Amino acid sequence: MNAEIIAIGAELLLGTTVDTNSAYVSRQLTACGLGVGRVTLVGDDPEQIAAAVREGLGRADLVICMGGLGPTLDDVTREGVALALGRPLEFHAALLEQIAARFAAMKREMPESNRRQAYVPAGARVIENPRGTAPGFIVEDEAGTVVVLPGVPYEMRYLCEHALIPYLREERGITTVILVKTLHATGLSESMIGELIADLMNQENPKVGISAKQARYELRMSVRAETYTEAEALLTATSSTLAERLGANLVGAEPLAATVVKLLAQRNLSLALHEATPVAPIFRAMTAVRGGADAIAGVVVHPLDQAADEDAAVALAHAGATNVLGRWRAELGLGAQPVSSPDPSGLTAVCVALVTPDGLVRQVTRRYDLRLPEGWDFVATLALDLMRRYLQGEQA
Ligand code: ATP
Repeated sequence: MNAEIIAIGAELLLGTTVDTNSAYVSRQLTACGLGVGRVTLVGDDPEQIAAAVREGLGRADLVICMGGLGPTLDDVTREGVALALGRPLEFHAALLEQIAARFAAMKREMPESNRRQAYVPAGARVIENPRGTAPGFIVEDEAGTVVVLPGVPYEMRYLCEHALIPYLREERGITTVILVKTLHATGLSESMIGELIADLMNQENPKVGISAKQARYELRMSVRAETYTEAEALLTATSSTLAERLGANLVGAEPLAATVVKLLAQRNLSLALHEATPVAPIFRAMTAVRGGADAIAGVVVHPLDQAADEDAAVALAHAGATNVLGRWRAELGLGAQPVSSPDPSGLTAVCVALVTPDGLVRQVTRRYDLRLPEGWDFVATLALDLMRRYLQGEQA
């Protein structure tokens, strides 16, 4: 079964409301093994809603509409769907009673306009909405199935979880389970990772996708199976394959900074930073993570004020790390030092050194385009990864 989603509301087209509902429903449908072929945004116009529903049913078995079920005249989703399916709107006395009861429970008088919400297309099955006044409905038509849900996100999510998904699983024979899990990697280029796992990226199940951000990679595994147990087993097997292929470049289930913060906390180690940079990227990356600030004993941010070539940068990174380590009596000192001017190519060499009270542990130098604001994020990735490898016991 494949599906399409139609999000309805003028505010979505004006851009004043971001369509988060479709993303949520897409995730839910995908998790049931349904392919979502298209998401459409439509304004509050019955003709346009009807056209979108007809077009959707022309391509997909299931069309989910959201929004425009309120009591006011610009809420015209019922009319649009009825028009698309050539069915009249029918009044449901029981629905009106439920809506009236909700108002009575709130000790408020029900405005006459709420009567509109007691109409659904002929033959539709009503989905009660215990979270709001707008009921949803399901129409099983020859052309396909249309499910209509309210637009208020928390109502829509409730009905999706308690009505739409049970309907698909219990009445439409959807048994597939899709699980998605992300692992994090760093230390290789995206193309190298792509080559190492090309077979996993090209196959359908399990499938692995990569997204990259400043030399940190998210490896998204998605697996499809008939039961949760099978899906879990497939995820575990895929994780092991990734671990084998990527070796120490695989960070784990959490992003790099969170992994480093966790490793420091587990070993009760404190870290002092010397960043010869204008923006303290390592400090910022660590403190963006919960608990990150607790791991930092002290930080010196001291942009370079003298000329330094690559050898000098190495010496300064080492000296900076040793200095802060002693100053704050930390277990680890980390220094980051760029050279004073970029190469003719525009790249600047940056040295990162990690020291313990016993002396130099390890250091690494790489070249980045520090003219770009995200250039400094690469420095943070380099430094955090140097620490991660040390903390995970990788041999230098
Ligand atoms: P109700 O009658 O309960 O208000 P409704 O179906 O009429 O439900 P709408 O009036 O279309 O819902 O939208 C209600 C609110 O929900 C809007 O103010 C908007 O902030 C939010 N909303 C609507 N559609 C979306 C969407 N696709 N994504 C995120 N938020 C949405």
